[in-house]
Amino acid sequence: MSKSLLKGKALCVITGASRGYGRCLAEMFVTHLPAGSLLLLLARNTDQLTEVSARLTSLNNSVRVAWEKFDQSNVTDCSQENIHSILSKAEIRLQDFNSVFLVHNAGSVGDLTKYAWEFSDGNMVANTINLNVTGTVLLNASLLNEIRKYDIKQKIVVNVSSLAAIQPFSSWSLYCAGKAARDMFFQTLAAEDQTLRVLNWAPGPLDTDMQALCRECADPTLRQTFNDMHKNGSLLKCKESAAKLITLLEKNTFVSGQHIDYYDNLE
Ligand code: NDP
Repeated sequence: MSKSLLKGKALCVITGASRGYGRCLAEMFVTHLPAGSLLLLLARNTDQLTEVSARLTSLNNSVRVAWEKFDQSNVTDCSQENIHSILSKAEIRLQDFNSVFLVHNAGSVGDLTKYAWEFSDGNMVANTINLNVTGTVLLNASLLNEIRKYDIKQKIVVNVSSLAAIQPFSSWSLYCAGKAARDMFFQTLAAEDQTLRVLNWAPGPLDTDMQALCRECADPTLRQTFNDMHKNGSLLKCKESAAKLITLLEKNTFVSGQHIDYYDNLE
């Protein structure tokens, strides 16, 4: 298994593509996929999606870009019925593609100002889990069920994971739990379906809006660490991290379901 996954005409679905890492991944895919490919961007902020879409077309107008308003914390939005209608509305014919990428990037750290014993707001807990876990699971199933109607050669699922999936961070319990659940969900998916190439990709600490919340977390040591990283410029640029993911997809030597971190030595 070593042929680049980026060779065939592809449909690439990216969640949380309106800003931050998802936007950067979209910019990376649009410049690495062959002509005739299509990017479908999903997020809630339609102004940002419109802007990202125009930017992508300016980078490579041989790849079509479509977007749709989508709330991953809403189970109806993630239903197969809704996903089918999004694909129809965007006039996406799955049979036209040699490969499909599902990039599960949307996520939130939730409320980092509380320790595990301080959670009492059921709606807040449920919303965080709905976005990070339930919505991801449902969207993934809906998309795979649509894809399975056709004989598409390559199906690649990228879960944007985190170090928090495999390591506890004080005052980040809900986020860590959600990321761990996602990782195991996608590991299990890889074990269930060997026709998929599944990657749990931990992108490293990125200079995005999400980091502002990390700088306000309850744990004082961690808060200091993230404030220092911000001040001394040691957070990663999204571009550096996204380029490494592209290299992994080009090399295509990862084990399906594997968790790989930006800082892993991949030689
Ligand atoms: P941002 O907060 O900057 O961006 C989050 C993205 O997710 C936005 O595009 C947002 O779009 C989308 N999103 C948020 N809520 C929803 C929702 N309910 N439905 C659909 N989309 C939603 O975060 P990052 O770019 O930093 O994070 C991207 C991914 O990378 C996340 O999964 C995160 O856990 C992971 N990660 C980030 C790290 C970091 O240091 N930043 C480190 C490790 C992992 P909109 O608001 O338009 O809906």
